[in-house]
Amino acid sequence: MINKQRLVDEFLNLVAIDSLTKQERKMADALLEMLKSMGYEPYEDDTGSKIGGNAGNVVCHVKGNTNAPALLLMAHMDTVVPGLNKKAVVEGDIIKSDGTTILGGDDAAGIAVILETIKSLKEDGAEFGDLYIAFTVAEEGGLYGARNLDLSKIPADFAFILDNGGPIGTIAVKAPYYNRFSATFKGRAAHAGLEPEKGLSAIMMASKAIAHMPYFGRIDPESTSNIGIIKGGEARNIVCETCTVEGEVRSTDKDKIAMYTQAIVDSFKKTAEEMGGTVDIEAETMYPGYFIKESDAIIELVKKASEISGIPIRLESTGGGSDTNIINGAGIPAVDISVGMDKVHSTQEQIKISDMVKACEFLTSIIKAACSYNRK
Ligand SMILES: [Zn+2]
Repeated sequence: MINKQRLVDEFLNLVAIDSLTKQERKMADALLEMLKSMGYEPYEDDTGSKIGGNAGNVVCHVKGNTNAPALLLMAHMDTVVPGLNKKAVVEGDIIKSDGTTILGGDDAAGIAVILETIKSLKEDGAEFGDLYIAFTVAEEGGLYGARNLDLSKIPADFAFILDNGGPIGTIAVKAPYYNRFSATFKGRAAHAGLEPEKGLSAIMMASKAIAHMPYFGRIDPESTSNIGIIKGGEARNIVCETCTVEGEVRSTDKDKIAMYTQAIVDSFKKTAEEMGGTVDIEAETMYPGYFIKESDAIIELVKKASEISGIPIRLESTGGGSDTNIINGAGIPAVDISVGMDKVHSTQEQIKISDMVKACEFLTSIIKAACSYNRK
């Protein structure tokens, strides 16, 4: 049985811990302690030192008692800003922040739901297959924890990432590929009043390049692009020598994202050349997209879980990236399921206690549904 009070207490306990991206030390220590007190042998990997953070991913194997497929359950430890000194306010069924910070239900709710679900399964003496828990660092801003997770130590058949909002039963099955690029335009500096004709403005070059971008904003139903940052210039009276433009392209179609990114790179180069300047462009794929088909085994599993729990499922696509992208990209079928988080990344963030309880019930039913299969 899910213990609602214990779940709420655990959630409030996690929310009270500062855990900004790459500063998850206290959260990692608390979770290592918690998993040990539950009788497991968790470990922390060396991701922290690789990414310049102060903690690594916390990983734990919960040995099963049947031969069901092995499941990987994931949530991330870090939060966005403003996320220091978070004070949760409980009002009836709703938990929110005091309005000065985010709540951090993204993704403390995912962590609390995983812990409570496992505690209740053990107490009930339920059947379950091998479970692997991974609490990742630095999900926000680049999925760095998941990218450095050593999956050779996690032989899971399916993965469930608890990092989604919407009604419980909402499951993200489609998410875009993500490319980012950084373009540095180089012109020539000169005094803007005395001899501007000797200069070549990198700011003008960048603006023309952006104005002539072949793709910007909503490109097609499954693709987008954006320029999010532009930086350049030293002073009003200097013709700007260097200007950097940072942008992104997303698409659920692998070929399209490559095509759009290349077209933007080519057009930037052309503009710089036409103006007599240069541009250095770095473009890289940050994470792959994924598309789980309705006929895939993992969807059959969640449908069975829906029958067991009576919670209807809703398959949706998302425009954002999550650890789910990385796990799918590594070859383990993964979906992102809702824990009820709402208005995330804002000081209005909130979550319903009843939704977190329901999320535990849904996760329990996924684990139970897996028991009707034999591990291959
Ligand atoms: Zn999240």
